[in-house]
Amino acid sequence: MEVFCGTAELAEEERLNSLRFLWMKKCNSFEAFRSVPKRRNEMAKKIAVGVDLGGTNIRMVLGDEKGRILSRMNVRTESRKGPEGLIQQLVRIIRSIMSNLGSDEDVLGVGVASAGTLDAERKTIKIFANLPFNNIPIVEPLEEELKMPVHLLNDCSAAAIGEKMFGAGRNVENLVYITISTGIGGGVYVDGHLLFGKDGNAHEIGHMTIDMAGRLLCGCGKRGHWEAYCSGKNIPNYARLLLQEKSSEEIERSLLVKFSKDNFQSMTAKDLYDAAKSGDALSKEIVDKIGEANALGFANVINLYDPEIITVGGTVALKNEDLVINPIQKYVENYAVNRVPDIKITPLGGDVVLYGALAMVFHENNL
Ligand SMILES: [Zn+2]
Repeated sequence: MEVFCGTAELAEEERLNSLRFLWMKKCNSFEAFRSVPKRRNEMAKKIAVGVDLGGTNIRMVLGDEKGRILSRMNVRTESRKGPEGLIQQLVRIIRSIMSNLGSDEDVLGVGVASAGTLDAERKTIKIFANLPFNNIPIVEPLEEELKMPVHLLNDCSAAAIGEKMFGAGRNVENLVYITISTGIGGGVYVDGHLLFGKDGNAHEIGHMTIDMAGRLLCGCGKRGHWEAYCSGKNIPNYARLLLQEKSSEEIERSLLVKFSKDNFQSMTAKDLYDAAKSGDALSKEIVDKIGEANALGFANVINLYDPEIITVGGTVALKNEDLVINPIQKYVENYAVNRVPDIKITPLGGDVVLYGALAMVFHENNL
């Protein structure tokens, strides 16, 4: 991808942005940053860059404070050149997407939503599970290069902010967003405050224990965690565990054999849900059991945080809406003590994290 150089006008704007950034650093205040006179019209449309940084792909949007997405970009994550290479790639593509800006648009900052574990100050990605390196400084190098404020949050926390600012949570103060994807994670608002915890990891709901017998091992190394049974990566493990209780006649009759290409060892979550969608009784029974385990996790979340609404995203949920949501609604009352809230798929769909990345910039004072 080409490095953005800019026209003479934009180069001048970059110079002014640089001066404003230095002034902001000196005053250590974003308010000061905003109070420095700008060459552009103060009525200029306020724009932010939202980045969803994943181990495989980087998705990026330009959007405004009303949540309108103006342009988007999707590139493979550069992992061969270590943290420095990744930072350089981010700088390059952020500059590139900003080259789409109109003359009456002004970028307020960049929000980066990242998979993985962050440090307590939310400036560095400490552990990035899907990249061959860790300890990636994000905020300072990007601010130095781009001369604008940069915010970093875990992708599940970001999704909760996106839901609160632009999605189904706009009129509530108590909201949980849950992703059922490769892993299971969440973001939680209680009384209008996003929960972070001592290290910023209060969203790790996928690692709550739902099976004291610890039959399945979680990717984190502990046993019996919700994610070990119900995440996209681990659903096949739970399905194989449940199949052990079935007779060979039942299994042979099942379409799951065909959908798994005669090999349960290489079965995917998609194989299972596709077989259930085709009406296969055994697959539907397993999907129902997965839903019951999900209901246990949801009930624990409801008992802990008492949300007014729970929205659900992530690939497994978005691609199998009814098969994921219906069993949760069916079983959650068995485990919840608190009043069960509305549980539904996020209206922001696969962009919920990107909306959150934008919301980080526009609602920085709420973070
Ligand atoms: Zn775990």
